[in-house]
Amino acid sequence: MKVHHSQFRYLAGTGQVPQESMIYKIFISMKRLFLILPLSLLLFSCNGNAQKDKNQEDFEIQKSDAEWKEELTDAQYRVLRKAETERAFSSPLNDIEEPGVFVCAACGNELYKTENKFNSGTGWPSFDRPINEKAVGMGSDTKIGYQRDEVHCAKCGGHLGHVFDDGPKKTTGKRHCVNGDAMEFIPGQD
Ligand SMILES: [Zn+2]
Repeated sequence: MKVHHSQFRYLAGTGQVPQESMIYKIFISMKRLFLILPLSLLLFSCNGNAQKDKNQEDFEIQKSDAEWKEELTDAQYRVLRKAETERAFSSPLNDIEEPGVFVCAACGNELYKTENKFNSGTGWPSFDRPINEKAVGMGSDTKIGYQRDEVHCAKCGGHLGHVFDDGPKKTTGKRHCVNGDAMEFIPGQD
């Protein structure tokens, strides 16, 4: 009671009416609350969407693991769906020099052109760039467990290989080191 009384006296001394001051304080905090509330809801929902996109990247072509296993050869399945790496110099696609397009073995998406293929000596088909920027996607943490330098088919998410910075310096400087088992070659004009 004593404290309350002296508080009142202090406020009265400054000419402020305590009740009004209280109402003003409530008004201010209400105002803040109304400003913060929608903002935090907005942030929360944005966050939710971002999280969703990251965890379940929506590929145009989506199939169950069992379906992929049935459709692909064992070697294709191990690379495309299990992100394994084929043995070096094992793929006939490594030696291809004739004009044509390399497509995804799982979905037929056009990925690379012979025009951008070069002999890296690594034993895996190597390209300095994809056929276009939308054809492939670069590593993200999805179900297959991609690494940061991983490259995959943008249409079905199938693992293709990895991208390194030791490609031809005259062009892009990039080396898309792609498993031949992940692709099929269609001869034709580049
Ligand atoms: Zn694909």
